Amino acid sequence: TALLEVKDLQVRVEDREILHGLTMTVNGGEVHAIMGPNGSGKSTLSHVIAGKPGYEVTGGEILFKGEDLLEMDPDERAAKGVFLAFQYPVEIPGVTTMNFLRTAVNAQRKARGESEYLVPDFLRKVREVAASLNIPMDMLKRGVNVGFSGGEKKRNEVLQMALFQPSLCILDEMDSGLDIDALRIAADGVNALRSPDRAMVVITHYQRLLNYIIPDHVHVMSNGRVVKSGGKELALELEATGYAQYEEVAA
Ligand code: ADP
Ligand code: MG
Ligand code: MG
Repeated sequence: TALLEVKDLQVRVEDREILHGLTMTVNGGEVHAIMGPNGSGKSTLSHVIAGKPGYEVTGGEILFKGEDLLEMDPDERAAKGVFLAFQYPVEIPGVTTMNFLRTAVNAQRKARGESEYLVPDFLRKVREVAASLNIPMDMLKRGVNVGFSGGEKKRNEVLQMALFQPSLCILDEMDSGLDIDALRIAADGVNALRSPDRAMVVITHYQRLLNYIIPDHVHVMSNGRVVKSGGKELALELEATGYAQYEEVAA
């Protein structure tokens, strides 16, 4: 079975249909890029997969490891290994990043029937991953995302991802607001998490990110559908031609 199968998905937000029959299959080990103009429905897709409220699925299905994902609440999806990162990181003043991470990771391990991390083991693990992402331990003593720069927020999410060890990582516009150096560090962190039993869906408006995270498959979304799929060369082609031709296809 595929890791993720989205079949003819139709989604409404406030009585307006946003996704009009979207189909894609992601296998373990693969990196898929979803590209498309603003408003094409990329974030809507990521939110529906993660189980964010406010979206009405009016048709189609989503299977995760063969199970009906739409039947699961968001916590269950996270426990099963679905991880959505990046577009709007929440700030949680008063909760240190370290405590937040430990609570979240342990809750997830518990839901999976795994033993919780003991404090020293968790600290060791965080230190190791944080170092690889250039995250100073001081940052982890601050409130979650409070006063973090764009790059710090993103590195923090990659850290979370490394600790959660999800099976499916959906990265929504991780490149937004990052300079080249910060992008490279975050992308290296993501690349280090590539593995045969994990898949990534990388959502981006720009081709640039895909120089750092090289996808196996590229899909172009326009007006709530996948209008073209191909290999990594499709991203370069898009960079040259733009999205306008696909908007016509979708219309
Ligand atoms: P993308 O991520 O590709 O830029 P989105 O999924 O954010 O696209 O948005 C797709 C379309 O759905 C846009 O036209 C947007 O205005 C609309 N949309 C998204 N979320 C909402 C919402 N909560 N309420 C109303 N319209 C929404
Ligand atoms: Mg494939
Ligand atoms: Mg978006």
